[in-house]
Amino acid sequence: MARPALRRENPYPEQMQALRIACADCYGYCCTALCFFKTDGFPLDKPPGTPCRNLLPDFRCRVHDQLSKRGWKGCRAYDCLGAGQAAARLYGQDWREAPATASEQFEVFLTLCRLHQIGWHLLEALQLLPAEPLWAALEGQLVENQRLAGQPAGALAGMELSAHCSEVNPLLKRAAARTMQAAGTGKRCADGVGKRFRGRLDGMDFSLAPLIAASFAGCTLYGVNLLGADLRDADLSDADLRGVFFLTQGQLNAAKGNRNTLLPPGLSHPPHWESK
Ligand code: SF4
Ligand code: SF4
Repeated sequence: MARPALRRENPYPEQMQALRIACADCYGYCCTALCFFKTDGFPLDKPPGTPCRNLLPDFRCRVHDQLSKRGWKGCRAYDCLGAGQAAARLYGQDWREAPATASEQFEVFLTLCRLHQIGWHLLEALQLLPAEPLWAALEGQLVENQRLAGQPAGALAGMELSAHCSEVNPLLKRAAARTMQAAGTGKRCADGVGKRFRGRLDGMDFSLAPLIAASFAGCTLYGVNLLGADLRDADLSDADLRGVFFLTQGQLNAAKGNRNTLLPPGLSHPPHWESK
């Protein structure tokens, strides 16, 4: 039996569009500002604020076409939600040309990453029909989020976001709870590493759950909360994800899937997924 729709059309398509990465308009911030570790899908450890050895002078990646083969799976998954090009726009001059601004540029990038992630989740919550009583408050936080992201570079560097998060997080939680309740039980799965899920998963709460190498192959996920779930190597082949929420492109990129995987609006099939 068909279930009622849980989403309305995105009322802010331009804002969602601004959260898509545009690496050609960026100064390779993720390859420089961020640290990474062997344990997280990289072949070596790298401290923050230093360029990756594969970063070319024009900010392209030397091994872009061989990331998986050479053990850079973490790079293949990464998605800054548009924070990179937004930081680059603020400076107009990259950190190599203007080394005195390098550390500030990296801090601005990190702040924008967090604000863009908050923006993504707010835009998601604003599409959830069971969250309608919260839409006005969510819109208020979306405006505040944009105001913060629109601050000058000097104010963005090292910006304290805990007060903003303490306003946003309870709203997102309530939006999620309403949606899971409308879809099913809100049953919590706190750890699904390597687990095989089957059939319909209605209203389940996988928020922040480790789901590494779990299999959702062929499952239908309806009203399912995936906020911050670790989907590295999870199998989403032939799964219907149109009913999930708080899923990001980065989580999807880290998972496995195929062209038959059905996605919620705003997300796209990662290029490395096999076609069937
Ligand atoms: S920071 Fe974002 S836009 Fe820049 S290269 Fe990395 S993923 Fe692309
Ligand atoms: S391997 Fe390529 S994508 Fe990954 S951090 Fe290095 S330059 Fe960036």
